[in-house]
Amino acid sequence: MIFDVKSIREDFPILYRKVNGKPLVYLDNAATSQTPQQVIDVIVDYYSKYNANIHRGVHTLSQEATDAYENARRTIQSHFNAKHPHEIIFTSGTTHSINMIANGFASLLKKGDEIIVSALEHHSNIVPWQMLCEKTGATLKVIPMNSEGELIISEYDMLLNENTKLVFVNHISNALGTINPIENIITKAHDVGAAVLIDGAQACPHLKPDVQKLNVDFYVCSAHKICGPTGIGMLYGKEEWLQKLPPYQGGGEMIAEVSFDKTTYADLPHKFEAGTPNVCGGIAFGAAIDYMNTIGFETIAQYEGELLEYATTELLYIDGLKIYGTSANKTSVISFNVGNIHPYDLGTLLDKMGIAVRTGHHCAQPIMDFYKIPGTVRASFMFYNTKEEIDLFISALKKSIMMLS
Ligand SMILES: *Cc1c(COP(=O)(O)O)cnc(C)c1O
Repeated sequence: MIFDVKSIREDFPILYRKVNGKPLVYLDNAATSQTPQQVIDVIVDYYSKYNANIHRGVHTLSQEATDAYENARRTIQSHFNAKHPHEIIFTSGTTHSINMIANGFASLLKKGDEIIVSALEHHSNIVPWQMLCEKTGATLKVIPMNSEGELIISEYDMLLNENTKLVFVNHISNALGTINPIENIITKAHDVGAAVLIDGAQACPHLKPDVQKLNVDFYVCSAHKICGPTGIGMLYGKEEWLQKLPPYQGGGEMIAEVSFDKTTYADLPHKFEAGTPNVCGGIAFGAAIDYMNTIGFETIAQYEGELLEYATTELLYIDGLKIYGTSANKTSVISFNVGNIHPYDLGTLLDKMGIAVRTGHHCAQPIMDFYKIPGTVRASFMFYNTKEEIDLFISALKKSIMMLS
């Protein structure tokens, strides 16, 4: 298929708006992606035609909503190649998914057990484990990184031992774009009997993970980074792990039978989906996955690779500009600083010229501490960005640098 970015952009109404009188150049995709009309239509359709509570109803609307919601679960199952649909749990997003696992493991860990995380983690992948360690007496170990922004696997090897119960690593770092060698990390963790959770929030917009091939125990992501809406995401868990973990919340939907003597829990996935779920969000999540697959992840990866190479080359022509995260194995995220200019000042001026980038620590303060910087400017690209937008970005950046130096 020939990749026609012009026609793809027509799917995204927001890309046509102006910001401060200038055409929007949206380069904050690692924070959230934009939503195509195909997904917006699904949301409008749901609320205009079949909004209803699911699973419990005998009436037509409830059955239609239930079918659409469960079909979305199967779309997600097949996209990630999970063995069973009930291994896909709908959550409100990556953070929620990670907290569910951390909460579940609280009853399985004891003093002396060890949890390994990586130096490249998002705060949402650090804090829940610190809380879990406080609760259980387990110890947190950290895989260090090198100056390219890569994990040092030889150090990981030394952290692993028979006390290691859990390993948590992101598939791709949101702050630097590094693609971590998760196959290797998973195999080695399994060799000592530890379970592995991969945070796929930043990977799923750019590649298509196969959870069975990876043999990963848990994999999580958010729909809003894959062209879907906010407030919905997923937790993939191997069936045997989801059976073993206790439920996260008590409430409707998650029970089989309730009496004051004893309550028995519902089967998977309902055991982890207490209360009325985000029905519309789940259906739209499925639609977003369908949308991305009609473009195709190989096409996406190739085109985004071109954008990354082009932007990196152009940026490095700028005097005093330093890129953080220079692994050969990275996705279309560029974190940088220019001389002593504060990233916030650059971000503010860029916005005046219609360019949306992120500035700050990107919820990854340990990485910023490693480089001894307060933060970076981060430009992150999706398949709907263009080389012309990169040109606009670079020229606005040069103007901002002139104004600030
Ligand atoms: C965005 C992101 C998260 C948090 O996702 P939420 O949707 O805010 O829960 C976690 N990890 C990584 C790597 C991310 O990029």
